[in-house]
Amino acid sequence: MAKTPPTDTSSLLSRLEGASTYHLTVSKRYDVSPSLVSVTLSGDLHDLIASPGNDLMLAVPVVGGDGSFRRRYTIRRADIVSGEVELWIDRISAGPGAMWADSAPIGSTIEAIGPRGKVTLDEMADWHLFLGDLSFLAASYAIAEAIEPPGQALFIFEIDQADDAVVPTIDPGVGVTVGFIERDGREMNDPAGLLAGLAALEFPPGEGHVYIGGELKVVAALKAALIERGFDRKAIDAKPYWRAGVANMAHGEPRNDDA
Ligand SMILES: Cc1cc2nc3c(=O)[nH]c(=O)nc-3n(C[C@H](O)[C@H](O)[C@H](O)COP(=O)(O)OP(=O)(O)OC[C@H]3O[C@@H](n4cnc5c(N)ncnc54)[C@H](O)[C@@H]3O)c2cc1C
Repeated sequence: MAKTPPTDTSSLLSRLEGASTYHLTVSKRYDVSPSLVSVTLSGDLHDLIASPGNDLMLAVPVVGGDGSFRRRYTIRRADIVSGEVELWIDRISAGPGAMWADSAPIGSTIEAIGPRGKVTLDEMADWHLFLGDLSFLAASYAIAEAIEPPGQALFIFEIDQADDAVVPTIDPGVGVTVGFIERDGREMNDPAGLLAGLAALEFPPGEGHVYIGGELKVVAALKAALIERGFDRKAIDAKPYWRAGVANMAHGEPRNDDA
């Protein structure tokens, strides 16, 4: 079984090069869609140097209980001057992270460690394909907004309800194709919907880069399908965000010891 890393702040910081601790205040909340809640955190962020796709690791307090869990959320937008970061959080999990996102009082504080994460824009690619679920929307749209014209961004997301089909706003010089696939009763770790979407997609000409985020087994199946199709594995960034039926571990990663 994989050894679980320590979760106290000083041990984490000693292992995470370039990351700092921030004490932030919940300053805004609104619904992006029925399943996606936007939470803005404010504070002194002047030394936060984050690339598109980086995330913050929050010490999420257990709602109605003691202690906290580390949960990672990708920075949807950051305004370092005004000291604001926006996160888009999928509330479907109903775990500590989702409950905090839904109910943390405006004005309450939270510890964040960041920036974290290695997946960011491949500036050499001609086109960029994003595959995943709602938890990957913030990362996908943050990375895609950094694409310079005449690049191309393609998105295929699996969603549970049509109202969650939130489309990106991207530089008009960048070609954008967005596809949403409804889950239609399939299990959360059933990759069939996204695999079908991927199989139906004709890759644009030029060099592509594929970014995958979401449920652990779905992410693995999509990566395997791309490799089987002959796609260069070095041009794939696949990151499991969560695992069906299993809460993420105390340090924020999905358990993958028997995947
Ligand atoms: C690098 C990184 C970046 C991430 N960025 C984001 C982000 O920007 N937005 C975001 O929403 N999530 C993001 N995640 C995923 C998020 O951190 C986890 O889903 C988180 O564990 C949910 O925490 P929780 O406490 O609500 O639920 P947990 O306690 O982890 O899980 C409770 C239950 O909910 C299920 N579950 C967990 N997540 C989901 C989900 N998304 N959909 C359906 N069921 C789920 C689990 O299987 C479990 O049964 C990211 C994860 C990583 C590793």
